[in-house]
Amino acid sequence: MDHPLEPGLYIVATPIGNLGDITPRAAGVLRAVSAVACEDTRVTAKLLNHLGCKQRMIRYDDHASEATREHLLELAAAQPLALVSDAGTPLISDPGYRLVKAARERGIAVTSLPGPSAAVVALTLAGLPSDRFLFAGFLPAKAKARAEALAELAPVRATLVFYETAPRLGDALAAIAEVLPGREVAIARELTKRFEECRSGTPAELLAHYGAHPPKGEIVLLVGPPGERGEAESDVDGLLRAALSKNKPSQAAADVARLTGLDRKVLYARALELK
Ligand code: SAM
Repeated sequence: MDHPLEPGLYIVATPIGNLGDITPRAAGVLRAVSAVACEDTRVTAKLLNHLGCKQRMIRYDDHASEATREHLLELAAAQPLALVSDAGTPLISDPGYRLVKAARERGIAVTSLPGPSAAVVALTLAGLPSDRFLFAGFLPAKAKARAEALAELAPVRATLVFYETAPRLGDALAAIAEVLPGREVAIARELTKRFEECRSGTPAELLAHYGAHPPKGEIVLLVGPPGERGEAESDVDGLLRAALSKNKPSQAAADVARLTGLDRKVLYARALELK
């Protein structure tokens, strides 16, 4: 940094796995600020250590007390203060919205330093339409709310981008197979890290794959827009037809239920219709 930083709030994007992805500008600002507001001081200490600096850290998230937020705002009004999250871009499914809103309301300068965000990295990898996308954060954990959220998004003519966790991926894919049958789906995992992968397929194919190979690590789940693959036949129907070519409806339903985690009775009824 050639010049000392002006007072204000600096929103600093940090790597999502590969420390080499810190931008020179982000590194310069983190070395020059008076303090760094962060989610987890242990995580941020590793980054600061990598940058060879030991800035004061202050824990902050959107559930922080008014007193903590007030303290940060007072600091940012007088000195340069950075906000980082554990990884990626602050405010994107991460804390910061309330702090930025309050800073702007008080006329405190806010500067955002762009850098990695898993949603955008995944979108550039997945081979799904990228001209229109809708970032929808995390799907709800409960089955009913998850299905409702997907149904609400079903008519949106854009690639849908969700953050997901490895233990919940199977439930999310099963819900997509039911609510958005026939869509092309991509799973972008461990982005920028050693075991990065991006796998595309129908929800049922991916459900079968990750059922056999339980995923680890961090995941972005993308769903292509309606009409991309000609949704005349759902992928579950495709699996049922393939199973029916070899077996009776009851066995076909049992096989597809095992593959997809979908309800066997529902699949049996559909198998009878298809036969
Ligand atoms: N603010 C962050 C960003 O800009 O990417 C996202 C924070 S959110 C709490 C964490 C979620 O981001 C993870 O559960 C995962 O869905 C996604 N994520 C973060 N790093 C990732 C990576 N390296 N590969 C895939 N997904 C990642």
